[in-house]
Amino acid sequence: MGAEIVAIGNELLLGETVDTNSAHVARCLARIGVRVHRTTVVGDDRERLRSVLTEVRDRSRLVVTMGGLGPTHDDITREVVAEVFDRRLVLDEQLLSELNERFRRFGYEMPPGNRSQAEVPEGARVIPNPHGTAPGLIIDDGRTTFYVLPGVPTEMKALLDDAVLPGILAASDGREPVVQSRVVRTVGIGESALAEMLADVVAEAAPLEVAFLPHLGRVDVRLTATGLSVSDAEPRLAELASAIAARASRWYYGEDGTTLPDAILEKLRDRGWTVAVAESCTGGGLGAALTEAPGSSDVFLGGIVAYSNDVKIAALGVAQDLLEEHGAVSEPVCRSMATAIRERFGAAVGCAITGVAGPGGGTPEKPVGLVYCGVETPLDAKIRRLDYPGTRDAVRERATLSTMGLLLSMTRADDGPAEVTA
Ligand code: AMP
Ligand code: MG
Repeated sequence: MGAEIVAIGNELLLGETVDTNSAHVARCLARIGVRVHRTTVVGDDRERLRSVLTEVRDRSRLVVTMGGLGPTHDDITREVVAEVFDRRLVLDEQLLSELNERFRRFGYEMPPGNRSQAEVPEGARVIPNPHGTAPGLIIDDGRTTFYVLPGVPTEMKALLDDAVLPGILAASDGREPVVQSRVVRTVGIGESALAEMLADVVAEAAPLEVAFLPHLGRVDVRLTATGLSVSDAEPRLAELASAIAARASRWYYGEDGTTLPDAILEKLRDRGWTVAVAESCTGGGLGAALTEAPGSSDVFLGGIVAYSNDVKIAALGVAQDLLEEHGAVSEPVCRSMATAIRERFGAAVGCAITGVAGPGGGTPEKPVGLVYCGVETPLDAKIRRLDYPGTRDAVRERATLSTMGLLLSMTRADDGPAEVTA
């Protein structure tokens, strides 16, 4: 079954409010087997809203709208939905007394404007909203069903869970096949290299679908089963996920909710290793990322942000000669920082980052985006040179991610240290 989502509100068109509601509704619908075919964002404009709602009524069987149910003059969804379905708005006495009661409980008289929230298109069902004043509505003409929800995300989510999803499932009699998916996560390999490596696995994946979702420095592979029963989909997804994990083993770090820091900390724990970081251009970003995972105190000892050369010398003991001869952004200085933090903190593993984040400070020999990442373990030391131009944010994030990728590869107990190539 296909569905459409309509998000209503000028603030969405202005970019002031990000339309998180549509994404939430889409995810929830996908989980119960409903594909969203189209999402529309429209402002609080009567003509344009009427034309959008008329179109979606004519071409779709299931529509979820959010927003415009408030008590003010720009909240017109209730009226326009009534027009589009050619129904009168009638006062729902019970809703009105509930609204009055709600205001009384909070110690106010109900403002006259709120009375409109008790008006309901004839024949529509009311979805009670215990979290706010705008109730939701369900209205259908025998072919198309509209679920009309308030825009406030917490209220919208509550009504979705309480009434919309159960209603759709009940209407479909539980016959809808479920969409299930699984995400296999990789780091350190580019999207096209990964796709090439997995080409034959992907070619034989049907009836499962495979999608590559690139992020900065990492690629997720999403496996989706549509139209299969849970008992059929589950083993197929598990089998495909392990085939991909085996093939991309050097770059694979986990599935679904596993983050890169989660995976690194687990490997460090398995090895019985602790870690400390010395950071320059990332200003503590690596330490922040590694401590995102709960339980990181088992293995993460601490770090030094050594931004200036003086601090690199005083706090880490990097040799002045080294800095003068090679410059702060150089392989020898990075190596020295990794060794120093390891020794000073008594950590099994030392990580170091030094680079030119930009936008200023680049030179022909050391352009913006040049970063050295280093990791020293009890077994091995590796320094990677990154050379990606980009915004300051992107350079810093990539430096953090690449160091985590290097750290992950050097902590793998299974296949030993492996070079990360991208
Ligand atoms: P409304 O129901 O139109 O009065 O919306 C109430 C509030 O909910 C707005 O001020 C927004 O902050 C928020 N909101 C409305 N629509 C969305 C949406 N699609 N995604 C996220 N927040 C929203
Ligand atoms: Mg609004």
